[in-house]
Amino acid sequence: MTEAPQVPASVPLAHTLRFDNRFVQALPGDPEAGARRRQVEGALWSPVLPTPVASPRLLAYSAEMADALGFDADTVASPEFAAVFGGNALVPDMKPYASNYGGHQFGHWAGQLGDGRAITLGEGLAADGRRWELQLKGAGPTPYSRTADGRAVLRSSVREFLCSEAMHHLGVPTTRALSLVGTGDAVMRDMFYDGNAAPEPGAIVCRVAPSFIRFGHFELPFARGDVALLQQLVDFTIARDFPHLAGEGEALYGAWFAEVCTRTAVMVAGWMRVGFVHGVMNTDNMSILGLTIDYGPYGWVDDFDPDWTPNTTDAQGRRYRFGWQPRVAHWNLGRLAQALAPLFGDVAPLQAGLDAYAETYARLDRETIAAKLGLPDCRDDDVERMQRLHGLLQAGEVDMTLFFRGLADLDTAAPSLDVVADAFYDAAKRTHVQGEFDAWLAGYAGRFQETGETGDTRRNRMHTANPRFVMRNYLAQQAIDRAEAGNPSGIVELLDVMRRPYDEQPGRDAFAGKRPDWARTKAGCSMLSCSS
Ligand code: AMP
Ligand code: MG
Repeated sequence: MTEAPQVPASVPLAHTLRFDNRFVQALPGDPEAGARRRQVEGALWSPVLPTPVASPRLLAYSAEMADALGFDADTVASPEFAAVFGGNALVPDMKPYASNYGGHQFGHWAGQLGDGRAITLGEGLAADGRRWELQLKGAGPTPYSRTADGRAVLRSSVREFLCSEAMHHLGVPTTRALSLVGTGDAVMRDMFYDGNAAPEPGAIVCRVAPSFIRFGHFELPFARGDVALLQQLVDFTIARDFPHLAGEGEALYGAWFAEVCTRTAVMVAGWMRVGFVHGVMNTDNMSILGLTIDYGPYGWVDDFDPDWTPNTTDAQGRRYRFGWQPRVAHWNLGRLAQALAPLFGDVAPLQAGLDAYAETYARLDRETIAAKLGLPDCRDDDVERMQRLHGLLQAGEVDMTLFFRGLADLDTAAPSLDVVADAFYDAAKRTHVQGEFDAWLAGYAGRFQETGETGDTRRNRMHTANPRFVMRNYLAQQAIDRAEAGNPSGIVELLDVMRRPYDEQPGRDAFAGKRPDWARTKAGCSMLSCSS
């Protein structure tokens, strides 16, 4: 591995963050450097540098994330910033590496996977002491790239950049995104898997999180029978990322697993509330911190449909469909529990963790029902009320986001479906469900006579749980089309809208509309492939 150019010590970028690189300092690494594809045993990371690109250009960045890291506007605008976050230069003390993990993909053990197109630049500490790992996605090959190129195309990078930040602003736990850099290089992709690969513009996202450790990091040493390495990683993860946990031995491990389970429940409950479908919930895409990670063929529910998945690769079995996400997360936690079992004499604490997932999810589901419907609490009949509503939304082909937002404006003294007229995609289907829907609305309105609360209380409660703006697939695609034609301003504008998803933002109706007809079947707007 040759030395990478470093930014001069004179620029602020060189000393804004302090890098302690704890992961590579504390855990065993691969003795071989460079990107030769290989199986890496007995090590959790491999040293590898980003591969330089032709002409890095900053297309967009997150002001909030730059601020959290301490980068001011001049630093962000500097050529050194684009160079570092495009993979052409390093800040002194960065120690780039790709990490080693496995995973269950679509229900089957897949062996070693690893960071095939992600390279961590370093673990930085911001001025406030918060830990942020900076990771480039699409920075070139690593030992884990297998047959692929380690690169990412602009369309998928825009989607990851925008959605990471949108999810953060929606209040759903997620990895973050600092920057989106165009590389100036073309990347070949067969977008429709039909043998017609074509060049596309390349890009790199710098994503940021306190840790990018995944369930699959624990599964790989378990699958290889390397219990010592497994235990070392568990001890490291608890010490670095869960320092508030007390105790030792199995009691500590059990408390930690339970927290991973409850955090995962919080994340999935957030997805279900806002209508987010991850699309590839393989265990290598599950964060140990309970963060939404690896934005690939994800999508947002337009017309409510628990069976919908945006991922063409999963079109047959629909394993990762919207309505199955809570149970898939539980299954994934089961794979993690299996991997951790060698550290436990008795499986009871692992079972307790899985039970904690189910209990936490059930509790949050009730909280979501109350919040989405604007109720002070959720009774058993409200659970049934929501179930009936879901049936009507599906049968009537009703837009999930528009419906719940619009429902806040219902006059409970004179309930009418007209208040959510915009949310229907098909007039005939509306007519079909009208009668049942009116009955549902009457029951719903009646519930508020019992609470005795004002309409404003209900409305405010609903507006904190039901966003007006979500990152609909077609909105992202419009920004992508413009960016591919050379104009990234649509990305910046969309990011700005998504910064305040629960606010009315008058004048921005164009971003709050339902999916237009043209977007129903267009690639990128309805279905997405993993080819990114
Ligand atoms: P994903 O489905 O995106 O989570 O990726 C699954 C595995 O494939 C991970 O190990 C990725 O690093 C790897 N991978 C995906 N795309 C590429 C690519 N273009 N180059 C190298 N590795 C990739
Ligand atoms: Mg992945």
